[in-house]
Amino acid sequence: MSTITMPHWIDGAEYVEEGAEVIAIDNPATGEVIGGVTEASTELVDRAIASARKAQAEWGRTSLAKRTRVMYNFRQLLIDHQDELADIILREGGKTRGDALGEIARGLEVVEFACGIQNALKGMHTIEAATGVDVHTIQQPVGVVGAIVPFNFPIMVPMWMHPMALATGNAVILKPATPVPTASLVIARLYKEAGLPDGLFQVVCGDKPVVSHMLDHPGIDAISFVGSTPVAKIVAERSAATGKRYQALGGANNHAIVMPDANLDFAAQHIVSGAFGAAGQRCMALPVVVTVGEAHDALIERVKARAEGLKIGPGSDPANELGPVISDTSRQRILSWIADAEAKGATVVLDGRGQAPDAEGTGNGYWIGPTIVDQVPLEASLYCQEVFGPVLVIIKAESYEEAISIVNSSQFGNGSAIFTENGQIARQFQLDVETGMVGINVPIPVPVGYYSFGGWKNSLIGDTKIHGQEGVHFYTRQKVITTRWAGSGSHGKIGLDFVASHS
Ligand code: NAD
Repeated sequence: MSTITMPHWIDGAEYVEEGAEVIAIDNPATGEVIGGVTEASTELVDRAIASARKAQAEWGRTSLAKRTRVMYNFRQLLIDHQDELADIILREGGKTRGDALGEIARGLEVVEFACGIQNALKGMHTIEAATGVDVHTIQQPVGVVGAIVPFNFPIMVPMWMHPMALATGNAVILKPATPVPTASLVIARLYKEAGLPDGLFQVVCGDKPVVSHMLDHPGIDAISFVGSTPVAKIVAERSAATGKRYQALGGANNHAIVMPDANLDFAAQHIVSGAFGAAGQRCMALPVVVTVGEAHDALIERVKARAEGLKIGPGSDPANELGPVISDTSRQRILSWIADAEAKGATVVLDGRGQAPDAEGTGNGYWIGPTIVDQVPLEASLYCQEVFGPVLVIIKAESYEEAISIVNSSQFGNGSAIFTENGQIARQFQLDVETGMVGINVPIPVPVGYYSFGGWKNSLIGDTKIHGQEGVHFYTRQKVITTRWAGSGSHGKIGLDFVASHS
């Protein structure tokens, strides 16, 4: 199979740097090398930033009517190209077709919010704050935004950022995740076709060296980051050191509590989709269930029965429900954590180790079947770290109080859920739980695009969530303008008295 090295996208065109070292990209379902990506040089990143700044100076003053027209065009083009994009996601990221289309649909929600950005940019206006004095606010773009994204949502996570940043008048330098770069190139082409002026959406590929250069670069005003917690902390520190604003979303280890009064068939169905969807590689996956009292055995029986029936295989067959994990490194880590938990006394209830599809060409893919591990000690990595694989850990608690204290002891605080038919317990849970997104009988409570997404604790470094109203706040700076006109009834007193001039 011939392979293509992913170009960068600079000033509205593909750009290939001669002589750059190529990092191979493979198909996780087959292990086959399908392309390559190069580390952008510092000169190229500098060039991308310089022309983004130039383009942004004009775009920031372009009317909202024109900016949102581009967003409307882009939305339609995304819909028209969703099959092409889904093919790329499943080939480079190993997703199933349904999941790939699902992430495009969730990303579209943010584009739709950006189409109506005028509503979110309305300022405040106070008449006669003092005699003849009016006060109003305006929101202006921050400037050039660096967008640094993880491998597991090559379309949706960048789309949490670029439609919001562009619609509010900024330019974007997107650094895609190395294993899954190609979707970003298609997005760049679609923006151009939608009428976005060149230079406003630049794609620079690479890894740590490119990110480091972006973080230190004075030409970037804000960083939107989504990825693992250790890198989120680096992003936060370096951005702060160079005076950039940042939003840095990190890893997760989401828990659900299942109460004895829950509808267990309903809960099991949703837990299987939360734990094993995208092979567990979602920051809003559901890798831990804390059962309360007698829910334990009955729930395991139901979850196991459903998980056993999942169809494993590559996304090229739309009937497949569970794909591979992203890399062999990832697979080996997950396998070693399962073995470690077992050695520490856990029971493997459903063992996906060694399970693989019998589809042609998948022999070297990074496969693990759905795995359920019960009685995992709380100090085992399989419980307390982010596993990011198709593994469901079950913990048994005797009461709601014990269960909530386990949930809240996690270093992460992205999402959480409770399954119960008792409204009082559900209400209590939403008040008690220390996570940023909460589901009541909803296993993956990803907020709709017009709310903001983000967790607590090690799942969000800093305080700004992504998209929705908090996204608008992040990508704009506010000015407060105080106005007085001669002849408007107030001449003020002559003098240096601060209060008198505003009476
Ligand atoms: P990652 O942190 O390894 O990489 C994220 C980005 O940072 C990539 O673009 C990568 O090139 C860059 N990077 C990696 N190491 C770096 C370093 N040392 N210095 C500078 N840049 C570096 O994450 P990943 O493995 O691609 O993605 C999975 C992680 O992302 C998981 O932890 C998952 O929970 C998290 N995630 C979080 C959310 C959320 O909303 N909180 C959403 C999706 C994924």
